[in-house]
Amino acid sequence: MNKYVLAIDQGTTSSRAILFDKGGHKIAMANREVKCLYPHEGYVESDATEIFISVVDVISEVMIKSNITWNQIDSVGITNQRETTIVWDKATGNPVYNAIVWQSRQSVDICEAVSDKEELIHSRTGLLINPYFSASKIRFILDHIKDGQKRAEAGELMFGTVDSWLIYKLSNGKKHLTDVTNASRTMLYNIFKLKWDKDLLKIFNIPEIMLPKVCESSYDYGPVSFFSTKVHIMAVAGDQQASLFGHNCFLAGQSKNTYGTGCFMLLNTGEKAVLSKKGLLTTIAWGLDGKVNYALEGSVFIGGAAIQWLRDGLKVIREAPECDPEAKKESSSNGVYFVPAFVGLGTPYWDDDVRGAMFGMTRATNKSHIIRATLEAIAYQSKDVFDLMEAESGIHMTSLQVDGGATASNILMQFQSDILQINIQKPACLETTALGVAYLAGLKSGYWKNMNEIHKTHEYKETYTPKMSLKEAKRRCDGWALAVKSAMMFKPERK
Ligand code: ADP
Repeated sequence: MNKYVLAIDQGTTSSRAILFDKGGHKIAMANREVKCLYPHEGYVESDATEIFISVVDVISEVMIKSNITWNQIDSVGITNQRETTIVWDKATGNPVYNAIVWQSRQSVDICEAVSDKEELIHSRTGLLINPYFSASKIRFILDHIKDGQKRAEAGELMFGTVDSWLIYKLSNGKKHLTDVTNASRTMLYNIFKLKWDKDLLKIFNIPEIMLPKVCESSYDYGPVSFFSTKVHIMAVAGDQQASLFGHNCFLAGQSKNTYGTGCFMLLNTGEKAVLSKKGLLTTIAWGLDGKVNYALEGSVFIGGAAIQWLRDGLKVIREAPECDPEAKKESSSNGVYFVPAFVGLGTPYWDDDVRGAMFGMTRATNKSHIIRATLEAIAYQSKDVFDLMEAESGIHMTSLQVDGGATASNILMQFQSDILQINIQKPACLETTALGVAYLAGLKSGYWKNMNEIHKTHEYKETYTPKMSLKEAKRRCDGWALAVKSAMMFKPERK
């Protein structure tokens, strides 16, 4: 009887269930949209019950669609949108507030009030104070429900990131657990001592009793008692970390970049946690076999979103796949540089006030040059993160694994390889997040013997090797640096 690993990928806008076989191939998939709610300017919330129902739905659908029976499921892995915060009532198991989504800015005042603790928080969690992370979101919820603090202190309320919430519901309220990767995004977890940090809990006045127990990523989280046949959840990991694992970046020095709306780059730094001085985050990559692996993380705000702007703002393309055929009409951007700083620039510039700019245009500049410059901008921004990672970790990165919607652009991928002067590898299975947590689950259950066995099955769809000379790559990158510098100088007084 063939067996499979079931991966649940709970994202910001959708929930997915995917079945993988021993070769790491996707056998079947089900998908449900999850609504984001915008109750006020800057608030992003979701209905936690809807999130759970969507997960149950996709599990049922993938099982029905594939004709696979429950006793053919070896184990379950859960990967999830990180930082999103849920607080529920221990007695009823019902949420007491909407899930506050990672992007939500509603707890910005709470963060500002503790800004003098930046150094302490960074040295314990590897994070920068920001409403993204769960701590200020928990505080916000406790402040906005009746008797929040009192009830939390009395042990009547439970907190969890989405993984915890799903485990709780799937175990019929028996388990209140999370994994190290998710804990490391709460801003309450000491990533060096591997425990909830009492000083941080005090800063946000959060009672420890409401927090889940933290386990390794590859761990027996117990059976899914929701269904009649007992199948165990054997792994939990935050989405970006699961993706790093799915890319087989098992060793220190290996890295991946996801080209979605924004870009997320993670570098495995092994058992060493590197604290950044220039805004990269330090995070736990996974906990496996009694050891913890760390990663450096950097992000680009506007990645594929720049392509969306070409489509919706400039209207020079009707859909994203038109980018490559259009850009191919010209062999270069003809000296045009585009800095898509629509919402400021993140790593390593950290400038909220800079705005987008285009440089180097002549009368000969056409649509294809601008499209090319836009694709190149995604690559330049990713290179900025890459360079900082190398500088701060002291690790020389020799290749980069990639996934995400914008990797469909061969021009972007080739240019990325050209300016980084390294190989770019695109895996056969682009569902690397789900695959990563499936691997972590299967390693715990014995479905896969070890990482070596997994690696033997790992297939690449494409490898891009540098075609540009080092000298030319340097000339282009110098141009980009000048473009960014110039854009950062342009700050007319805004009303
Ligand atoms: P997310 O998970 O952030 O929603 P996805 O991984 O689904 O992102 O990728 C979507 C992004 O990829 C969009 O911003 C889109 O503009 C970009 N994209 C999709 N197809 C292409 C393409 N063929 N060429 C360039 N960009 C693309």
